[in-house]
Amino acid sequence: MFGATRRLHQSSVNEVAREPADHLKTASAFIPTSQISPISHRHAVSRLTRTSQRAGRSKHGAKSDARTDKPKCIVVGAGIGGLVTAGRLAREGFDVTVLEKNSEAMVGGRVGEELVETSKGRFRFDTGASLFLMPEIFEETFSSLGVALHDAIDLRKVEPPYMIFYEDGTALNLTMSNRALLKEQLDQLEDDGYDKFMRYLDAADGNRLFGVPNFIQFEFSFDSINAFLKSLLSMWPLSSHHTEAGRFFSNPKLQALVTFQDLYVGLSPYSAPAVFSLLQAIEFKQGVFYPVGGYHTVAKKLLQIVRSLGVKVHFNTNVKEILVSRTLLSPSGYEAEGVLIDKPGRDDEAAKLEASLPRSRLRDMGKTAMMVSSDIVVVNADLPFAEEHLLKTPPALPSFAPSIGRDFSQWDYSTSVVALYWSFKDRLPLNHHNIFLSSEYRTSWASLFDTTSNAAFNASAFNFYVHASSRTDPSACPEGCDNIMVLVPVPALDERMSADEQQRLVDRTVSDAREGVLRRMEAVPGMENIRSSLLHEFVRSPMDWKRLYNLRRGAVFGLAHPLRQLVIFRPGPKHPTIGNLYAVGASARPGNGVPLVLVGAKQTAERIVKDFRRRFGSARFIDDDTGEGDKGEDGGGAATRRLFWHERRGKEVEAVK
Ligand SMILES: Cc1cc2nc3c(=O)[nH]c(=O)nc-3n(C[C@H](O)[C@H](O)[C@H](O)COP(=O)(O)OP(=O)(O)OC[C@H]3O[C@@H](n4cnc5c(N)ncnc54)[C@H](O)[C@@H]3O)c2cc1C
Repeated sequence: MFGATRRLHQSSVNEVAREPADHLKTASAFIPTSQISPISHRHAVSRLTRTSQRAGRSKHGAKSDARTDKPKCIVVGAGIGGLVTAGRLAREGFDVTVLEKNSEAMVGGRVGEELVETSKGRFRFDTGASLFLMPEIFEETFSSLGVALHDAIDLRKVEPPYMIFYEDGTALNLTMSNRALLKEQLDQLEDDGYDKFMRYLDAADGNRLFGVPNFIQFEFSFDSINAFLKSLLSMWPLSSHHTEAGRFFSNPKLQALVTFQDLYVGLSPYSAPAVFSLLQAIEFKQGVFYPVGGYHTVAKKLLQIVRSLGVKVHFNTNVKEILVSRTLLSPSGYEAEGVLIDKPGRDDEAAKLEASLPRSRLRDMGKTAMMVSSDIVVVNADLPFAEEHLLKTPPALPSFAPSIGRDFSQWDYSTSVVALYWSFKDRLPLNHHNIFLSSEYRTSWASLFDTTSNAAFNASAFNFYVHASSRTDPSACPEGCDNIMVLVPVPALDERMSADEQQRLVDRTVSDAREGVLRRMEAVPGMENIRSSLLHEFVRSPMDWKRLYNLRRGAVFGLAHPLRQLVIFRPGPKHPTIGNLYAVGASARPGNGVPLVLVGAKQTAERIVKDFRRRFGSARFIDDDTGEGDKGEDGGGAATRRLFWHERRGKEVEAVK
């Protein structure tokens, strides 16, 4: 049974070409970035003019053309970050096309779902995100797209937020609604355990109040950088989260209870700054929620909404490269001209693409590739992958994160996970979110972030998470059964090893993790027979995460969040040199986790609009429905607006000439 994978949705995942295709060497107007050479002023102008004409734009920005010519934007990836950025830009009047390499069933990227049919009926699994946190950020996102969150998603509070299973056989119900029960359990672990826990949460809430504006909602400006640097100094000397927990609790079980969440930001509690206690304030003070129908309903709803806003979303469309050229029209000297895609294999997909995009924006680049031109490109594919494989900029150009450079092996990555998806014919004594903690807590983290070559999963000391969504949403599996997702954090893939060596290590890791989890779970009273209760299983290994979503090193949470990769040091929403290239997603600012990615999508979309206005200052908004014009920079709040920008761009071309 082990390893048997049966999916209702068969994803079609295209391989990404590593080398620029040969046929590109003959293309004159659009060259792969690896072949960029400086071009003259006049060439730059004539290239842009040709591009504009090919794209159906008038060289002089004639009014009739301008009325239909919205600025074109391509978003690479239909993850949550890509969808929301696309929707926000569509509402601002941009003509947005999303290109996603996977099938429509996999929309939302890491906010995924799998359905499994068994003799007992259908089991539904969230394959990635399962903890729905910070609902206020979702509310803002949905309302920015014109929909109330509660109309789109049926959200339930999860109570208790967590059940903790210690390796010595004890368990703790971390209920926040039954305070008497919580007090009884915490006081048993340590004198005044409950009072200390409450004091810890108050301090954590202070970190939340400080951290959310400074680390998450941070918007780049001279003043905000100053404020951020000052706030860092005020936190100095920075103690680790685990040290901070030690100031409140002497019992290692309680210290572990308030620090295991650091995994979500790709850090060990022994190195994570204490400010990350904000995670506990978010979970225990605000609460943990769950969308009925599964977390993936959020992605499906977003797809529906952005389509209704006019965004064209193409699945099974693998982007091979972002095409960049030098231009004197961009203040920074470089512009993305569009993207190179694998030509859709099936006729109906090719036809769909051609039907939704004007012929003038598509260009055949040989048998297997096609170029799609665009005024703006937004990268939602995870940045460490995109930087190396999609953006083959000349080495002299900086990365999205100039402070950490273009040597991607030097960046700090989060861990990977071995994910086990189990359909049980019986119901297990679990709550919705369950954490199994190792009694060798320090060792369990050390091996995860071991950077020595050949570092392997430590099967004798590890923590894991168990998701049983049917506790909150009974529709997730047949009555009396259980749909269980287990996430076992394991080291990210080691790129110094050959592919075969990596595969061998991963096979061993999966088998050790699976056996270790089964042993830990069957030691819990009521779960002794889980092996015989198992109806069906499928597994995702670090290699699978890498292949399915292009996650470098299979690091499921993308770039980690040490101080050197936080806020101004983390890849920003805008490329420092390529004027019209932007990024959104877990490895960009502000960071990993769906709520943070939503904040990032807002910041990226706002940045694009701001840059556009700055550059094409005469841009005017006109209400599509009423035809009323020139409502000023705020566009008069119309539901659908058109941004008339091309007149100005035409003038810019003339001016450079
Ligand atoms: C196992 C797991 C558990 C998690 N648990 C939680 C949780 O409980 N709560 C929470 O808030 N967050 C959680 N997260 C994190 C959260 O899922 C991510 O932070 C978030 O979904 C990332 O969204 P994104 O848009 O940045 O990227 P992605 O979801 O990775 O989307 C990027 C998209 O780009 C596509 N793409 C990549 N390359 C190309 C290409 N060349 N051409 C076209 N398309 C391409 C990918 O297929 C993908 O669809 C979890 C993640 C994982 C993996």
